[in-house]
Order: sequence, then C-alpha cells, then structure tokens
Amino acid sequence: EECRVYEFAEACGKSASDVISVLFGLGMLVTKNDFLKQDELEILGEEFGIEVTVKDALEDVNYVDDYHEEDIDDSNFVTRPPVVTIMGHVDHGKTSLLDKIRSAKVAKGEAGGITQHISAYTVDQNGQKITFVDTPGHAAFSEMRSRGTEITDVIIIVVAGDDGVKPQTEEVISHAKASGCPIIVAVNKMDKESANMDMVKAQMAEREMTPVDWGGDVEFIGVSAHTGMGIDDLLENILLQSEVLELKADPSAKAKGAVVESLLEKGRGPVATIIVQNGTLKVGDNIVCDTTYGRVKAITNDQGKPVKQLGLSETGNVLGLNEVPVSGAVMVAQDSDKEAREIATTRAEHARAKELSKSTKVSLEEMSGLIAEGKIKQLPVIIKTDVGGSLEAIKGSLEKIANEEVKVKVLHAGVGGITESDLVLANASEGCIILGFNVRPTGSVKQKAKADGVTINTYTIIYDLIDDVKDALSGMMSAVI
Ligand code: GDP
Repeated sequence: EECRVYEFAEACGKSASDVISVLFGLGMLVTKNDFLKQDELEILGEEFGIEVTVKDALEDVNYVDDYHEEDIDDSNFVTRPPVVTIMGHVDHGKTSLLDKIRSAKVAKGEAGGITQHISAYTVDQNGQKITFVDTPGHAAFSEMRSRGTEITDVIIIVVAGDDGVKPQTEEVISHAKASGCPIIVAVNKMDKESANMDMVKAQMAEREMTPVDWGGDVEFIGVSAHTGMGIDDLLENILLQSEVLELKADPSAKAKGAVVESLLEKGRGPVATIIVQNGTLKVGDNIVCDTTYGRVKAITNDQGKPVKQLGLSETGNVLGLNEVPVSGAVMVAQDSDKEAREIATTRAEHARAKELSKSTKVSLEEMSGLIAEGKIKQLPVIIKTDVGGSLEAIKGSLEKIANEEVKVKVLHAGVGGITESDLVLANASEGCIILGFNVRPTGSVKQKAKADGVTINTYTIIYDLIDDVKDALSGMMSAVI
C-alpha cells in the first residue's frame, strides 16, 4: 500500500533520481523518502513501461487480527456473555448507572474497589453473566468500530426522564443505529417527580425509536441510578436481547480481544484493560496489541484480584506489554514470543516511517530554521482565545512585531476552543501554527493535529506566546540581513 520513492526505484531497477525527476516533471516535489500514492505509482508505472500492482504492506502481519475467520473451530463453540455499552447525553446518568449496576450486582465481600469507577466489569444476573464496558463517548465508540474493533453486542441509550432527548442523544441514536447492535432505551432518573416516561417515548418515537408498547421494536425501561429501581428489569432485558443474538465463541482458542483502556503505571509499566472476545487469555501468553507486544506477566480481574486467566467476555488488567497500547487496539495471542515481537515491530516501524514522511509541516522551533534559510517570509498563524479582550491584545502585539521583510500572517482569529475546522484551515496553509490562549484542543483534535503534522501551542501567559513567535520571527530577520 505504501511505497517510498527509493523503494520504488529499487524495485524497478532505476535510480532514485530518475524517479524523482519524472515526478518533478509532473510538478510533484518529492524527496527519496516520501511515500508515493497509488495514482502516483500508476503514473510512474506508465512512464517506465512497467506494471505496478499495489499490495498492502502490512497484509501479512494484519492477518493475525482476523485469525478468527479462518481458524475458529465452531464445534468448540459455547455461549458467551453479552457485552454492553451505555451511551447518552452528558449528565443523563451514564456513569451513575454503570456504578449502580456494579455495586448492586457484585457481592459485597468482593467490593474492594467498588467506590472507584472502573472501565469494564462483569455482573451476574440470576446465574447469567453480562459485561459492561465504559467507552469514552459515542465518537470514540464509532472510531473504534471504524478501525475494526467491535466489542459491543447490545447498546443502552440512557435518557434522563426529566430532561428528554438532547442533541447528544440524537448523535448517540445515529451512532448506535449505524453499529447494527440491538438498542435498549433506559429512561433514567425515574425517582424524580418531574420524570416523564411518555414524553421520552414520544421524543424517541419521532426519531424512529418507537417503543414496543407503541407498536415499535425498541424496549424502554424506566430506571433510577439513585434508588436502583428498574435495574433488574434492564439486566433481564439485556439477557433477552442477547439470547436472540446467539453469541458464541471458542474458549479453547488462542485468545483474541480488545484493549478497552490503557495507561502507564508507576512501578508496574504498561497496563492494558482487556476484554476477551474469543479464547482464554492466560498468564504466560504472548500477545500483540497493535504495535505493542509482550508476555502476560500478571492479570488482575475486574475486582482487582490477581487471576491466572480471563475467559470469554471477561475483562481485567494485563501486565507485561512493552509499551502502552492504544485504546481500541485488537489483542491477539501468538504461538511464540518471537512471532509476537515480529508482528508488533513490523507494525511499529511502519507507523514510524509513515509518521516521519508526514513531517513536512513543522514546529515553531523548526520554523525559525526554515525562516533562516529564507524559505518562508511569512509565519501563518491561527489564534484562538477564551475571551475577546485577549484576542485583540494578542493579535495587535503579533502584528506589531513584524517588519516589512517578514511578518506574522493571521489566517484566523477567534474566541473559543481549538476545533477541527481550525485544523482544516491550518492544513491548507503550509507551516501554519495554531496558537491557543487559555483554550485547548479536544482530545480528538489533538490526535488529528498530530497525525496531520500541525503544531498546536497553548499558553496561559500572553508574553510566553509573543516570545515564542518573536523567536521564530527573529530567525527570519537574521536571514534577511
Ligand atoms: P453522565 O454524565 O451521563 O455520566 O451522568 P452522571 O452519572 O455523572 O450523572 C449526572 C448527574 O445526575 C449527577 O449529579 C447524578 O447524581 C445525577 N443522577 C444520575 N442518575 C440519577 C437518578 O437516577 N436520579 C437522580 N435523581 N439523579 C441522578
């Protein structure tokens, strides 16, 4: 899929400069380390009279993520517990509900860390298990799905009975529908006087979420995360819905699962919260999670107790990975530590190479270098601040420190957080830097910026901001002299 200029040259027995000059001739300014896109490869193929077939470079190592499709022996299938995700508008009680279900259903003696909110746990409902996973919002949920990590079997949309459908509820409905999972609506806060089940039903019915008792196919369950009312009903309903799904997996298979959450813990190293989707994950297994790998050193279950293994739909914290894996990464056990290491290392190298080839956009420090080389006469910036007063002050100061040779070019200045639309704008202007004063990018914007190679600098002191920009500009001025 990805091929660098020099790799292409090697593969077809040309020199890199031959390839570069063809591309230059076509108006593409590349270096030998740049990656070629599919259409560029095709053009080059025509130019040199050779046939180019494009194949996924990671085909061999990515195969392991899908091993279940080929290698699963369905004669070993047993029913596995359903995995449930709760989504809803902020403050409608998602966290309270998750915590209440756990505290109501986990035997008191085992309640060691029960006051602490945890990201995944399994409860027992009349002898049947259900696993709940807390995803950090519906956007993250869909992003995980788009990367091929599908862990959820049943979705609960929580709507506060006193507040009704809100903009985020509508978003959640779209995300949930797109996933194809069965949906149950939990109408929360039913302990409140002002809670109104019929209002919620009517609002949801308008959005093609028609209640069963109104002739539709969506179950609505009234609950209270405060009193615990309706929670048994909700759990029974989850079990009913999952029966229809006939969820099956093979407990004797090599373990496959997903990373729900991960962090670097002082003294313990990388810790990954993993949910097992097939097979059994055991201490001593060699696992790969995306670009990370390791031998499982220890597992603690959802009650914080050390265990030897995690079974189907169970979750726990796993120690032993070489680095912190990304949330949503697929986890697959391998036959040997050598295999695990090779797969992860191939992916990591590939990711790094891709990262490097992207870094044509530059940081503020590098910017002064480029300016010094006379390559840039303008420093394009986007300014975002918390209030209008500081916006004017910063804009004014930045415009003043310019001279006729070099200057700051303010592409956009506005009040508010750093958004995706700022990124789109920055991306469209070579070398553009986003400056935030008392505002920050959201997590997803931060990640996108990193992937796009756009620098976002945030400040809480105006002078620091001005100084950084001055430093960058002074490189520019000395070059002019
Ligand atoms: P989240 O943002 O969806 O995770 O919502 P939280 O669980 O943080 O709840 C938001 C607020 O609603 C908190 O103040 C809770 O105490 C309150 N709350 C949650 N569930 C209930 C409920 O069933 N009844 C009442 N009266 N308040 C609730």
